[in-house]
Amino acid sequence: MLKKFLSFFSEDIAVDLGTANCEVYVRGRGIVIQEPSVVAVNQKTGQILAIGQEAKKMVGRTPGHIVAIRPLRGGVISDFEITEQMLRYFIEKARRRKWIPPRVIIAIPWGVTEVEKKAVIDAGKSAGAREVFLIEEPMAAAIGARLPVQEPGGNFIVDIGGGTTEVAVISLGGIVLAKSLRIAGDKLNEDIIRFAQEEYKLLIGERTAEAIKIGIGSAYPLEASEHHRSNSKKEGERVSKKEMPMRGRNLVTGLPEEIVVKEEDVRKAMEKSIMQIVAEIKSAIEETPPELLADIMANGIHLSGGGALLRGLDLLIKKETKIPTKVIEDPMTAVVRGAGMVLENLDELHEVLVETTELEAPK
Ligand code: ADP
Ligand code: MG
Repeated sequence: MLKKFLSFFSEDIAVDLGTANCEVYVRGRGIVIQEPSVVAVNQKTGQILAIGQEAKKMVGRTPGHIVAIRPLRGGVISDFEITEQMLRYFIEKARRRKWIPPRVIIAIPWGVTEVEKKAVIDAGKSAGAREVFLIEEPMAAAIGARLPVQEPGGNFIVDIGGGTTEVAVISLGGIVLAKSLRIAGDKLNEDIIRFAQEEYKLLIGERTAEAIKIGIGSAYPLEASEHHRSNSKKEGERVSKKEMPMRGRNLVTGLPEEIVVKEEDVRKAMEKSIMQIVAEIKSAIEETPPELLADIMANGIHLSGGGALLRGLDLLIKKETKIPTKVIEDPMTAVVRGAGMVLENLDELHEVLVETTELEAPK
């Protein structure tokens, strides 16, 4: 009786605790929060000053002792307390009915340790959850992409986030094999920073590098990718720019400087990292059981996460693997939408959740 009452009224929540962005979905309301996974901390006192959007705005505009921390940057929880505070903040911000503790599904990177899983569960509980379930990000992304994960066929998903690229083969509601690589969007930004420094003696910030990547970055020559795109269903897509101004400080003179960078040079700067992602995909393909591989050759490789938006990446992967590849719809929210779908159909989909002994423990 009480249980029924609780599940009827409780505002159940799905969270994608991403390395770069955190998204929160509330049952019946959809995605209500999409903010950077950033916490601003006063290093002198250890005090948390801001979380999410607010914290990101402070970066680089505050005195030196205020630092922006991304507690999940490398795909592992580097600072449990800060992660917990961030999770609590987002969960509380999302809730309206504070008097019923919600059930919470949290998407975590693939391959986190048991200790980290327990830490996330504890963080969820101390953030006010009545029950915490975990789902692995590639599984959530595949569900968000509406792939038939519970059927016997094979599904191939590549989630490229900020800190990690996760490659997984999913069948019968479980992950058959998965790999996690610490090369993703952040690394591409670092590549651009290094390129500016080596090529032009120009010191640029991370935000500038990211703007360059999003503005003119590509994994494959643009003409080819634009052609490819105009053949796909999106009509009237903007014509991409081929060059862009990059502002920074000249390391020799110490003065501000603007240099125009070309699409081609940015692609070259990121090439090595991108090929490492491709190699990881190829090695997952090599390890895939042959029957599943037959399905994958027919259904293709699905790309999710913000990194999937890099121009021409689908084309490059298709060329390198000889398997049709496409970016799923709305790739940045796939994980939280997938976790949300599990939340809405917990009875039918419970098998896709991560099993840990902690989950069974009585409350
Ligand atoms: P996570 O799940 O790890 O938090 P996201 O899926 O939110 O990561 O993706 C964030 C990454 O996607 C960042 O590195 C960001 O620079 C990158 N990104 C976002 N949009 C684009 C784009 N249009 N082109 C290339 N990279 C992009
Ligand atoms: Mg994400």
